[in-house]
Amino acid sequence: MSKKPNYSHLPLNTIQTTKFLAASSDSSASDLVLFGLPFDGTCSFRPGARFGPKAIREMSDGLETYCPILRRDLEEVSFSDVGDMPLPPGDKESAMALTYQMAKHVHENGQIPAALGGEHLLSLPLVRAAHDAHPDLVLIQFDAHMDLRNSYLGVELSHATVMRRIGEIIDPSRILQVGQRSGTREEYQRAETFGNLRTEQVTVAELQQWVADRPLYVTVDLDVLDPSVLPGTGTPEPGGVSFSQLQSWIAGLASCNWIGWDVVELSPLLDPSSVSSIVSAKIVRTMILTSTATRC
Ligand code: MN
Ligand code: MN
Repeated sequence: MSKKPNYSHLPLNTIQTTKFLAASSDSSASDLVLFGLPFDGTCSFRPGARFGPKAIREMSDGLETYCPILRRDLEEVSFSDVGDMPLPPGDKESAMALTYQMAKHVHENGQIPAALGGEHLLSLPLVRAAHDAHPDLVLIQFDAHMDLRNSYLGVELSHATVMRRIGEIIDPSRILQVGQRSGTREEYQRAETFGNLRTEQVTVAELQQWVADRPLYVTVDLDVLDPSVLPGTGTPEPGGVSFSQLQSWIAGLASCNWIGWDVVELSPLLDPSSVSSIVSAKIVRTMILTSTATRC
């Protein structure tokens, strides 16, 4: 019999959903707190990322709890899933404020906030909260896109500008971009100025060396994967990495000091086969197992 959910320490109510595979009901005692951000208000091409968290949870049921790559089992991990945040559709200011409040609270409780998107703009409040708690953090962005525009259609807060805004919170030298293959000339010039752009040739050893013992935040925009692997995303970009490549990059960071992460931009209705949702659930499983590896 499952335990009664205990979310009383959270700052705001969440919408209860099917939990991620093997997640606990007691968020007050877990090392990692998973929450969904069902919001796609600034999506520039094909909307639907608001349905991502639900699809990831549902499809997680088809996975094993054991990961042979990491040799770890979800059953050994202290993590909870508190459901989705009730984010008002189309109101990005409120969505960002609520997201920040949740992440801040989880940090203050000494836990790892782990967010399921939703669109990439919500990484901005998540990173802001992470930076408040860990001013010396470093960030790895797995993404097909730079997200370094200053504005998109005159708007400065968008999933196309999110890394530009994050670069105003944390020094760009603390950001590593991996898997990018699309952007404007200006974005590429800016990324070269940052000096932190990596292609699919980056090795696990290089990632480990770059992070070293600094607090690590990881944002995974699922469109980093090739569209043949994950077609269910708003802005698919041909020429992407394989599932195995992304999984080995993430799993290779198991010895790092993780302090937060997000997995964003799954748009499940764009893939009638649901394979994109299964792929996303397996990436989330890898993230849960990797980010908690040094905690137990
Ligand atoms: Mn992207
Ligand atoms: Mn992105």
